[in-house]
Amino acid sequence: MKILVLGAGVVGTAAACYLARDGHEVVVIERHDAAARGTSQSNAGLVSPGDATAWASPAALKTFLRALWDKDLGIKVRLRFDPHFLLWSLRFLGQCTMARCRANTDVKLRLALYSRDCINALSEEAAITYDQRRQGVLYFFRSKESLAHGTDNYRYLAERGLPIELVDRDRLVELEPGLAGAKHEIAGGVYSPLDQTGDSRMFTERLAAHCSDRLGVKFLFGTTVQGLDTDGDRVRAAITSAGAVSGDAVVISMGPESGLLGRRYGIDLPVYPVKGYTATVPIEDETNAPSLGGVDEDHFLAYSRLGNRIRLAATAEFAGFDRSHRPEDFAKLLRTGRDLFPGAFDARRAELWAGLRPMMPNSVPVIGRARFKNLYLDTGHGHVGWTMAAGSGKLLADLVAGRRPDIDPAGLVYRQ
Ligand SMILES: Cc1cc2nc3c(=O)[nH]c(=O)nc-3n(C[C@H](O)[C@H](O)[C@H](O)COP(=O)(O)OP(=O)(O)OC[C@H]3O[C@@H](n4cnc5c(N)ncnc54)[C@H](O)[C@@H]3O)c2cc1C
Repeated sequence: MKILVLGAGVVGTAAACYLARDGHEVVVIERHDAAARGTSQSNAGLVSPGDATAWASPAALKTFLRALWDKDLGIKVRLRFDPHFLLWSLRFLGQCTMARCRANTDVKLRLALYSRDCINALSEEAAITYDQRRQGVLYFFRSKESLAHGTDNYRYLAERGLPIELVDRDRLVELEPGLAGAKHEIAGGVYSPLDQTGDSRMFTERLAAHCSDRLGVKFLFGTTVQGLDTDGDRVRAAITSAGAVSGDAVVISMGPESGLLGRRYGIDLPVYPVKGYTATVPIEDETNAPSLGGVDEDHFLAYSRLGNRIRLAATAEFAGFDRSHRPEDFAKLLRTGRDLFPGAFDARRAELWAGLRPMMPNSVPVIGRARFKNLYLDTGHGHVGWTMAAGSGKLLADLVAGRRPDIDPAGLVYRQ
């Protein structure tokens, strides 16, 4: 089959790779001039089953409402009239029960663990390095109260098969000597040894090169998808800025923009953009720099060690498709990073970036056939798309082939 994959982020590129390995002729259509120039460009770098807890939860409901007035929170809501945001919010609120949170978390954890194995197998097979470290990730808390509440979520993940270690501040610093300077600010946390870190842009660019050199995948860069040419229950072609590109099947992997396209063709695809900010800083003093990835849960800050750089990430902001940023957007993030790793980096040398998480109301990605006989979705990976991309691509290729997937697909396969 000739399969069109729309979007060359980490999700679309991974899907293209698995589809091409199955012998399909694959064409990837991407509006930018290279792979991973959307959200996959500069995320926090965590490949983290430990971060599989769904965002919608009873606690998130309170945080979401508090964000309407507390401007210093890691979650920000810019109020404006946007029917899609209103609808998304209502559906998000509907997922904020403990039962829904747990059901969504189960599915995400299963996919994240599977995907971690897929990323490792794929990078070894394609001989790709991406500043990866397979040493685990630390999730830590500032106060005894937040520690007690937060570890409940991790205990739940542990019951579902994620190995974790509860750590006090001494053990935390033993695992991560880079946190010694902030030891007395931290109450304790959780170490997730299966979690890992790596540069998703480097991975995606190199995977795209492998796909094109070794698997014959054609990348149409600088080409914008404008619509679909449909005929009854089939899609005939993607209509692009370079004309119509025909295919036997089409996969939508356009990250935050997926919902905009899908909704035009009657697909229930409530992907909404949730903005986040990252700063990437070169390391100046190795002694105080992190070697593992981590999440400062009370300050909503995630970080990872990427070669001789530290990537710091924060904030979930509901601001539509606005990807702009100002230096002041990074002030708190850089301050927290400096407090955790004093002297490790010079904030004046930070590379600043903002991107949009393609977020579903239930935090579960959408994978499977939708509305048309030959239209597939692989999108909506939200806050853990780097973690779940490879496993999603493999699952999608299995569904296209009509094969039994290696992963239990319950709750994962989209049906419309
Ligand atoms: C601040 C921040 C931190 C994060 N940290 C982590 C983390 O630590 N771990 C983790 O697992 N995940 C993390 N994420 C989430 C993760 O980065 C995303 O889920 C993932 O990158 C989504 O990949 P994607 O391929 O679906 O989207 P994208 O990377 O956005 O790819 C979609 C592609 O489609 C293209 N496209 C869109 N519209 C069109 C069109 N009309 N025509 C042609 N092409 C089009 C875009 O240009 C883009 O290249 C983070 C996200 C943010 C914002």
